[in-house]
Amino acid sequence: MESRLFLFNTLSRTKEVFEPVNPPFVGMYVCGPTVYGDPHLGHARPAICFDLVFRYLQHLGYKVRYVRNITDVGHLEHDLDEGEDKIAKKARLEQLEPMEVAQYYADRYFIFMDALNIKRPSIEPRASGHIIEQVEFVRKILEAGYAYVVNGSVYFDIEKYNKKYNYGKLSGRVLDDLLANTRELEGQDEKHNPADFALWKKAQPEHIMRWPSPWSEGFPGWHLECSAMGTRYLGEFFDIHGGGMDLLFPHHESEIAQNQSALGHESVKYWMHNNMVTINGQKMGKSLGNFITLDEFFSGSHASLAQAYSPMTIRFFILQAHYRSTLDFSNEALQAAEKGLKRLFAAIGVLHKLQPEATGQSHQQSQEIKKLHDACYDAMNDDFNSPIVIANLFEGVRIINSVNDKKESISVEDLELLQKTFNTFVFDILGLKSGSSGDNSEYLKGLMELVLKIRQSSRERKDWGTSDQIRDALQKLEITVKDGKDGSTWELGK
Ligand SMILES: [Zn+2]
Repeated sequence: MESRLFLFNTLSRTKEVFEPVNPPFVGMYVCGPTVYGDPHLGHARPAICFDLVFRYLQHLGYKVRYVRNITDVGHLEHDLDEGEDKIAKKARLEQLEPMEVAQYYADRYFIFMDALNIKRPSIEPRASGHIIEQVEFVRKILEAGYAYVVNGSVYFDIEKYNKKYNYGKLSGRVLDDLLANTRELEGQDEKHNPADFALWKKAQPEHIMRWPSPWSEGFPGWHLECSAMGTRYLGEFFDIHGGGMDLLFPHHESEIAQNQSALGHESVKYWMHNNMVTINGQKMGKSLGNFITLDEFFSGSHASLAQAYSPMTIRFFILQAHYRSTLDFSNEALQAAEKGLKRLFAAIGVLHKLQPEATGQSHQQSQEIKKLHDACYDAMNDDFNSPIVIANLFEGVRIINSVNDKKESISVEDLELLQKTFNTFVFDILGLKSGSSGDNSEYLKGLMELVLKIRQSSRERKDWGTSDQIRDALQKLEITVKDGKDGSTWELGK
């Protein structure tokens, strides 16, 4: 069993042994949401993938400080330096304060992430709360000579930077190609070079979100917040920086350039990127308009959905793919995930009722259970390979069912190891929640059937006292019972 953890570093394009800068502490920064709309499946993926990383590092005993930012300012439309701020635009359309929009969607984001059983990060800093740090960062980059001021805006000088360093080292892009392929956009004429990006933008008169700075009243460029907040909370050199692959360029590439310029060195030891969720082979994204929100998944209210899917089905579906593979949405795949999860939890229900036999147990079975346990760790140590963990757990499901069917017996020690493996991997590391498939509706249905059957038999005995007692108790739980000719029915609500 390989006990060292390997992870794929986007920067070196190889799997590297994970050796924290300052063990047992680990600093991890992941780019969070821009809060101007409901989270969709594409947002669930990085949140779940890095939740898996967070949980596993904690399981290994590391003291992890996990920072995930909330972008509430400076992210302009089309991810370029022109156009309206995404949040300000939403605020204008809905006649709200920009901060009302940011608050509303940040709250919504938390509700859905909680439903997916994603652990809250240690710190969730907001860009608008760290303007001072961002202004300071711009000042340092200017002082180092890698930025210039035009009409109150500050731009990063990519050509100058690239003479000494390599702008493109993370994404593999080459500056000459970038220059050839960057469109000259209207209003971009302030830049020396179309590939330069804004560190600080002077606010137009209609722009509401603005702060004072040495250069103008304005707002920070989108890439800047992660440099500033990462340094603020994790120091000048920390372990892991993560995000979706769509952030590789220009966001993370620019972040490297900013840190290198301002601090004189890079800040991140391991860069990790999760792959995209696709729909009909195309990236699912808000700007592409082909997204399905988590709310729609949970309620089944989108035309592309054959049914509602519980939060745990979504979580399991995402974990069934390795984080660096693309994940294509389809009803068939989600239904298969739902079925698989049910099988897994049914087996866990059986597992906790299995009776060991002192005399039972074949030597071969002992080997199998030990192998299964080690294989789960090997898979996690091999770049967080959750699909292999799940495949091994299903191997365990086979053993559980076989013992339950009395085809095999199991010793006390083997049963303990099997239970420990399931508890550790299913609940602690994969973060799946117990209770049918994380959705209580099936339980409730079964329970209500039972309660109404008991009530029916009391009515048949003319025991009206018990019958009324049950009805009134249910009423208090906001479950209404209706008695009809063909028996009783129930519904949620008064
Ligand atoms: Zn970021």
